[in-house]
Amino acid sequence: MLDPVSVKFVLGLVTLTLCLLFLGSYRKTRSAYNGWWCVALGLWLASNLALSWPGASAQWWAIPLGNALLVTGSFCVWGATRSLRRRVMHAWFAPAAGAAAAIGTAFDQTEIASAPVGLLYLLLMGTGMALAAWELFLLKTVNTKAHVPLLLTALSLGCYFAVRAVVYVVSGPGSDLFRMFLGPAITASFLTVLLVIVAFSMTALSNDQLISSLREKATRDDLTGLLNRAAFTELAEVELKESQLRRVSATVIMADLDHFKSINDTHGHAAGDVAIKAFADACQAAVRRTDLVGRYGGEEFVIFLSGVLPDQATAISREISVRLKAMEKPGGVALPTVSYGISRSTGTDVALPDLIKDADTALYEAKDRGRDTIVSAPPQS
Ligand code: GH3
Ligand code: MG
Ligand code: MG
Repeated sequence: MLDPVSVKFVLGLVTLTLCLLFLGSYRKTRSAYNGWWCVALGLWLASNLALSWPGASAQWWAIPLGNALLVTGSFCVWGATRSLRRRVMHAWFAPAAGAAAAIGTAFDQTEIASAPVGLLYLLLMGTGMALAAWELFLLKTVNTKAHVPLLLTALSLGCYFAVRAVVYVVSGPGSDLFRMFLGPAITASFLTVLLVIVAFSMTALSNDQLISSLREKATRDDLTGLLNRAAFTELAEVELKESQLRRVSATVIMADLDHFKSINDTHGHAAGDVAIKAFADACQAAVRRTDLVGRYGGEEFVIFLSGVLPDQATAISREISVRLKAMEKPGGVALPTVSYGISRSTGTDVALPDLIKDADTALYEAKDRGRDTIVSAPPQS
């Protein structure tokens, strides 16, 4: 038989150490994942204290409180795993689940006298862990597989609490089966193992979160949210190779806002920014989700389309201009017209810089023809 007091003491020490480590990491990174874990560990520490409170006379408040804190912490773990997918868990979920556990335990008088558990508490602990496991299952990490052991632990904890709930109902909390294999000492041991695995995955997961957000910042243009030039080029190179392998055509559209400088000069830089953003929105609304749209620089944009016919590329350019024209004039400022140059390749050897160069030449031609027009370069093969 395990000695519950010693096991809880070890669990308390591990929890305290990890809580301090997460706190240090949170202060440096401000990562939501670390923050949620900090709260969860603090709650579990407090729960450990409550559940170890000496004296039978304190049980009426110590056990419901301890269970409530454990459940609240378990839902905070769900919040932590959700934050890895940049989803927000409503903050009231965790205390609401904790309050339900406290009420459930407080009404379970027979059980308080025998063992510090309750059916609702078991089900809620299992639910918190199962939800955390589900989030980790859905998580797509970039640089690490550190979430896998965490997923397996959360899953086994979820199952463990579900089995406890079943045995609790079938055999009762006072049964030998429940006390020997599923009692508080075993639970504390299980939680200790979970915490060791959490410690192992902590740095890897929060680093991954940090890398993803830095990567997002590094590939997107601040003003429009479109791909920046470097990211566009990198992705378009890949798309072009794929089109060539599939032997479908690849199209590049270069677009430049007409007489844009006069908007800046007449209405100010902020009005110019609004026009650029409006054009970016019109582009994104007109293309497919899989097409690439980038801000090539200033008021010049570039679009990569795979497998479209020449007429379709012209129609898309026209649609962008129609959408821009239909937009509300921001602060009464008329949005500019746009010139487009289109290039297309059907061959397997054409490189992206050549396609961009041809589209750019066609764009100059469109400007020469008086702007607000679309010019297509002869196709490369
Ligand atoms: P054209 O029809 O020949 O293209 O004439 P244009 O006035 O559009 O072209 P020009 O190259 O003379 O001017 C482009 C202007 O775009 C100059 C630059 O100050 C402005 N610009 C570039 N980036 C931004 C930006 O992010 N915000 C704003 N407001 N203006 C920008
Ligand atoms: Mg221009
Ligand atoms: Mg320009």
